[in-house]
This record gives sequence, structure tokens and C-alpha cells, in this order.
Amino acid sequence: MMAVRKDEDGARRPLHGLERDAPATFVADRWRDREEFKGRVKEWARKLEVDAHSIYIRPMRRKWASCSTGGTLSFNDELLGMPKELGDYVIVHELLHFSVPNHGKLWKSLMRAHLGEYEKAEQRLRVGG
Ligand SMILES: [Zn+2]
Repeated sequence: MMAVRKDEDGARRPLHGLERDAPATFVADRWRDREEFKGRVKEWARKLEVDAHSIYIRPMRRKWASCSTGGTLSFNDELLGMPKELGDYVIVHELLHFSVPNHGKLWKSLMRAHLGEYEKAEQRLRVGG
């Protein structure tokens, strides 16, 4: 049981106050720079055993990412300003297409296995699953 200290005047005072850093500087869920993003792509590629030898981050008007059979991956540079979980979604989505070319049952179960509740990210990015 936590004791509530009583001062001499009998007033209850909190034992501890967790101070808030003003204004919010907590940006740990954002990418530091494009190198960090590329590093994450390489990490996932290793994990998913995909040979991704060229990774580009560039402006893309109509897509979040694209991949080619030669192992070239391109990512929309707008992802850099978005939460990391959205980047992870796009990275794993693309990398899985090297072995599963559609969004069928197998693809969905692999997405679930690697990312858990991936549908939230999908909705935020407005991509069709
Ligand atoms: Zn896809």
C-alpha cells in the first residue's frame, strides 16, 4: 500500500510527480534520417531472406513503394516523415512480394506473423489489402 503523507497542517500531498517535458519532444517513433530507414529495410530483408541489393528512397506520386524482380526496391520519401510502424508495414509488404506476388491468404498470414495487427497501418496508408 502506498502511504499518503500527511504534513503537519494535515493536507494530503502527492508523493511523487512525474514531470512532463514541455512541449512534446518525444519523437522516438519517427525516422532519424534516410539511412536509418534503409538500415531497417536491410534488417527486414535479412530476416525475410530477400536479396535486396538496391534500395532507393525517392519521391513517388502514386505509390508507397515498388519492387522489381531484380531486387531493386523503391520507397516513397514521404514515409520518412511518418511513424515508423507505417514504414515497417510498407517495407514488409514489399519484401513479402518477392516470394508471394499477391495479397492472398499466405501473404496475409505472413504479414500477421511479422507485424501483428497490420490492418491499422494499412488503413492509415489507405492501401487496399
Ligand atoms: Zn502489395
